[in-house]
Amino acid sequence: MTDCIFCKIIKGEVPSSKIYEDDNVYAFLDISPVNPGHTLVVPKQHCTDLYEMTNDEINAVFTTAKRIAKAVVRGVQADGVNIGMNNGKAAGQIVFHAHIHVIPRFMNDGYHHWHGKPYEGGQQAEVAKRIVTNLK
Ligand code: AMP
Ligand code: ZN
Repeated sequence: MTDCIFCKIIKGEVPSSKIYEDDNVYAFLDISPVNPGHTLVVPKQHCTDLYEMTNDEINAVFTTAKRIAKAVVRGVQADGVNIGMNNGKAAGQIVFHAHIHVIPRFMNDGYHHWHGKPYEGGQQAEVAKRIVTNLK
């Protein structure tokens, strides 16, 4: 994809702080990190999101994300790590080339998890049923 910023990074047309590269995967520092060491892991082949990734790409990217997570934690001496993937505008996806965020976390770094809210009467079973019937 000619217009994709991550494709340009993979091709070396846009600079990046490369962390790792193999035939299928490229990993580099996020330019605007949640915490220093925040790394993005992407498939080299352009695809928009998780749904467009092949199972082989998912395997390669997540396996690499696990390896990088360990290196990030050791490298910046993090207390924990979030692995995240935004799929779709409503989920906060800004760059439409599939990518995994590896985000180092520190005790008391000021970030919080999403607020959950309880199901209302009967809704939980109904929602579970709707999802189960849509499994393919
Ligand atoms: P998302 O919201 O999941 O699409 O996240 C896209 C991420 O890409 C953001 O965290 C940006 O800071 C990061 N990003 C955008 N452009 C660049 C770039 N040129 N180099 C490194 N990271 C980038
Ligand atoms: Zn791309």
